[in-house]
Amino acid sequence: MRETQPERFPRLLLKGGRLLDPGAGIDAAADVALRDGRIDAIEKSIDAQENDRVFDCRGKIVTPGWIDLHTHAYWGATTWGVLPDPFCLASGVSAAVDAGSAGWANFPGFVEFIAKPAAARVYAFVHISGIGLTYPLVGEMEDLRFADVELTAQTALEYPETVVGIKVRQGAAQVGENGVEPLRLAVAAAEMAQTRVMAHIAAGVPLPDVLNLLRPGDIVTHCFQGRGDTILQPDDSLLPHVLEARKRGVLFDVGHGSGSFHYPTGRRAIERGFLPDVISSDLHSLSVHGPAFDLPTTASKFLNIGMSLTDVIRAVTCAPAKAVGLENEIGSLRVGGAADVSVFELVEEETVFVDTHGIEEIGRLRLKACAAARAGDLWTPERAEAELGRPESHTPPVTRLGNEALKRQSGIR
Ligand SMILES: [Zn+2]
Repeated sequence: MRETQPERFPRLLLKGGRLLDPGAGIDAAADVALRDGRIDAIEKSIDAQENDRVFDCRGKIVTPGWIDLHTHAYWGATTWGVLPDPFCLASGVSAAVDAGSAGWANFPGFVEFIAKPAAARVYAFVHISGIGLTYPLVGEMEDLRFADVELTAQTALEYPETVVGIKVRQGAAQVGENGVEPLRLAVAAAEMAQTRVMAHIAAGVPLPDVLNLLRPGDIVTHCFQGRGDTILQPDDSLLPHVLEARKRGVLFDVGHGSGSFHYPTGRRAIERGFLPDVISSDLHSLSVHGPAFDLPTTASKFLNIGMSLTDVIRAVTCAPAKAVGLENEIGSLRVGGAADVSVFELVEEETVFVDTHGIEEIGRLRLKACAAARAGDLWTPERAEAELGRPESHTPPVTRLGNEALKRQSGIR
């Protein structure tokens, strides 16, 4: 990750906003000053000095830098990949976690060509399949020979600054006849490297079998997918295994994407008091043009189905930081800590949101990104577009063709 600090402005002052930092238990009017990539001061009112750059936050919400726990950022090496900077920095997100785009065989390229040059913070789960998610038309774990426990663990140990866990996808389209064997291998690699597993859940593998193998701190992603083998029973109550897993410390992440958010499933779970631990976009080349779009759009959906603003902000700041063991670095603001800060506006207007099943809901509230500071460098959506280009210009034509083939094959929208 690139450490950046603009030299023209010795200090950046985020002035006049409502500071909402659930990790620190703060919800109050406060100014935040950033200097040399660190938080210089958080006070009720900070007077602007002569050379300060002042960013007007009146009427806006200032939060710790948002963390998108589930993205696919391996551009050019996987069909799913989108570049992290044009998408994250343009939408108020300062940190992206790649969810297993690379496996041991292609992970060094991810570190060198994606994570290191990015202005956003970039972390990753390394896939238990050695080729990661490079080839979308054949399930990466239909053939178990692609999994090498030792080399996967070795990758996690070799890149501790980037790797936050091991990824596995547990749907029939990914594992074929192999059931939960890929998960067993992922857990073995995670134990060897003393890290966590993120398990994608999907139709075709019984969810209790998946949950039974997960350990405290492991993460279920796509928790509100509605395509079969979901968290709900036929009478819409929660599967007892889901409640039991949460009780023992398994975390539940949204991972919206292009096939994994079903409004009725999310609504019913939240009505029963089952809130997601983490809200993530599962941003990739098939979801960035909708229905996920970006993390603020994904998060806004939850504001309109029963989560409070504080709960939503928690689920994109301190909760994902803690989920991947980064809570001492990011996810909450403290003087002397990293100057990763997001600024949003809570817009009250009717917006049509769509899930991955084509179900529309009209929401009254929407979070609109105003800026993301990364190591003290402020990115507004306008600056991101001017310097990094429009996101749609980054998808190669051949990737688009491949994605069309995948859509036809899998039935995703
Ligand atoms: Zn994903």
